[in-house]
Amino acid sequence: MRRRASRPPMLSRRGKPPDAMSLADALRERIAAEGPISVADYMEAANAAYYASRDPLGAAGDFITAPEISQMFGELIGLWLADLWLRAGKPGGVHYAELGPGRGTLAADALRAMRGIGLQPPVELVETSPALRDEQLSRLAAARWHDNVDSLPAQGPLLIVANEFFDALPVRQFERQADGWRELVVTADGKGFRREAGPPAEEQLPPAEPGAIAERSPASVAVAATLARRLAARGGAALFIDYGHERHCVGDTLQAVSGHAYADPWAAPGTRDLTAHVDFEALHDAAKAEGVRVYGAIGQGAWLRAMGIDLRAAQLAKSAPERTEEIVAARERLSAPEQMGRLFKVMALVAPGWPEPEGF
Ligand code: SAH
Repeated sequence: MRRRASRPPMLSRRGKPPDAMSLADALRERIAAEGPISVADYMEAANAAYYASRDPLGAAGDFITAPEISQMFGELIGLWLADLWLRAGKPGGVHYAELGPGRGTLAADALRAMRGIGLQPPVELVETSPALRDEQLSRLAAARWHDNVDSLPAQGPLLIVANEFFDALPVRQFERQADGWRELVVTADGKGFRREAGPPAEEQLPPAEPGAIAERSPASVAVAATLARRLAARGGAALFIDYGHERHCVGDTLQAVSGHAYADPWAAPGTRDLTAHVDFEALHDAAKAEGVRVYGAIGQGAWLRAMGIDLRAAQLAKSAPERTEEIVAARERLSAPEQMGRLFKVMALVAPGWPEPEGF
């Protein structure tokens, strides 16, 4: 969860580290040679450099995510997947596939819960960051790694999870001008980077007042379509969890976070985490067009409660009474509407012939 905290950005006193200097320089050179670049190209280059160079998770890093808050999160996801597999008649040849697995914590918790139900699938991780691949290796020694979803196994059903993955994928941005929508492009000046109006948009964009900003993420739509095609052909299900909106909406949601505080997305690219809210309607439409059933998006809090987070928290507190306060606080943080329960959404894709999923 990228949330504001009281601590100032980590890098503010010491300036930019050398690798970020070189990304800013490389982008400046590219813009000087080719002209302004799209917001998506800027975001992609910034996040590739950012994730490649560090483990951003945890108190010492830049942000905290749900699986790092409590084991309950990954366990309930594992139970959701294993329950579908059981009711689908325990098909053979299934693989667990996770996109952007961070430290591997969610996968470790989910796989432990699945094991309890007799499911021990091979593990396939889609991860581009060498630093995070090392973290994942320490928890999931037998996993196989992929640079993108195209190389996931083509045989057998897939049980897919993506938590806070789509928000890191690049978005294009468009601004409504008096004469219609224009794409925003990124240019460089002496001080740093800034956006300006570029060419007229060819996309279908909604009616809006001048000055309004709309976002589209072709990269996210392509991933959702590829996964849905795999599910429709081979069986299985996917669970996408992220912050975002159920319907297309207008607004500039691109944000940067560093050291648990908001930062300027247009400065020091590669040193801060860039994200945008996920447009679940776009993922829904892309997946449905490939022939899978789509459920949600619904609030993370409602989904976790339907999956039994209250019972799981009570069980954990009973077996470790001295941790009761911490367990209750984690349950609240994950599911209370004013915390992660409402902004974060859960969407499921289910293959034709597979049963109705729990929790929706
Ligand atoms: N799911 C984890 C981590 C979320 S952070 C958690 O909940 O804790 C985003 C993750 O996506 C990181 O593992 C990052 O390295 C990965 N990532 C970002 N962009 C990616 C891309 N284009 N392809 C594959 N992985 C990517």
